[in-house]
Amino acid sequence: MKPAPFEYRRPDTVEEVLHLLAEYGDEAKLLAGGQSLIPTMNFRLAQPAVLIDLNAVKGLDSVDEADDGGLRLGAMVRQAAAERSALVAEKVPLLAETLPFVAHAQIRNRGTIGGNLAHADPRSELPAVMLALGASVRVRGPDGERSIGAGDFFTGFFGTALEEGELLTEVVLPPAVEGGGQAFLEVSRRLGDYAMVGVAASVVCDPAGRCHRASIALLSVGSRPMLAEQASACLVGERPSSAAVLAAGHAAGNKDIDPQADMHASVAYRRHLATVLVRRALTAAFERAGCVMGEGAS
Ligand SMILES: Cc1cc2nc3c(=O)[nH]c(=O)nc-3n(C[C@H](O)[C@H](O)[C@H](O)COP(=O)(O)OP(=O)(O)OC[C@H]3O[C@@H](n4cnc5c(N)ncnc54)[C@H](O)[C@@H]3O)c2cc1C
Repeated sequence: MKPAPFEYRRPDTVEEVLHLLAEYGDEAKLLAGGQSLIPTMNFRLAQPAVLIDLNAVKGLDSVDEADDGGLRLGAMVRQAAAERSALVAEKVPLLAETLPFVAHAQIRNRGTIGGNLAHADPRSELPAVMLALGASVRVRGPDGERSIGAGDFFTGFFGTALEEGELLTEVVLPPAVEGGGQAFLEVSRRLGDYAMVGVAASVVCDPAGRCHRASIALLSVGSRPMLAEQASACLVGERPSSAAVLAAGHAAGNKDIDPQADMHASVAYRRHLATVLVRRALTAAFERAGCVMGEGAS
């Protein structure tokens, strides 16, 4: 199918984008990599009167070290560019590990980091990574600039905290901390398919070897990416052990999530996947954090 007719604008600056957004309001759509938006338009599920192409806008595609040692990724950084970036691999290894799971190489060549987050598909990998790492996004709009934590950004099914007239400009990832380790795992029918369930886990151990922080984010288990709070509670303050990790997996699969069935997986299968993947991801994350895993409870 072909999209409905639309007017095409190609601004050079963020200021021009904001001006066009203010002029056209909800008649306009921003075009980043187009990997989600264009199919939606071709199916006529979206029929924007005006398409504002971000691809010529200057200053949105840089990858920089942040002042605090973390990472700043421009919204228009291609997923493939982030995947190949030595700085991303050094500063945010969890993101580098996860990017190959996002769609297919051809899609990652065009798809952007900002477009992926703004699209807020509950099956997407990157929102879960942002949640697990406590990242934030910067947005600019008619009232200036603001920063939104990942926990507040994903509001529901394909929903974000972006307001009318706002543009996501940058993603800010915190620096790695001493004693930290992360891992990403997912199960999909074929590599490149959307996952039936995925897990991004980030743990921090204190010098005494106890778990100080555990952020476990799941995707494809509800209307938006979510943190498994009850699973984390099984670990924080404890010495990491196979028993604690087993309990965390059980809590994630049976208490934290309320998944739906679809043509790809039943509710029971999604709960099973979450249980197993959380256990495996946590085991890998603690190992990478250099934590010695005991057998039983501490
Ligand atoms: C076959 C296929 C398989 C896929 N598999 C996966 C997968 O396994 N995992 C996964 O995560 N994704 C998957 N995707 C989606 C892919 O990652 C897209 O790249 C991504 O969802 C959207 O990024 P984009 O840059 O193409 O954004 P676009 O399609 O251009 O835009 C998406 C939405 O975000 C808005 N938007 C874009 N940029 C901004 C901005 N800077 N500020 C505010 N709003 C903005 C647009 O207006 C639009 O509403 C798949 C896509 C396809 C076609």
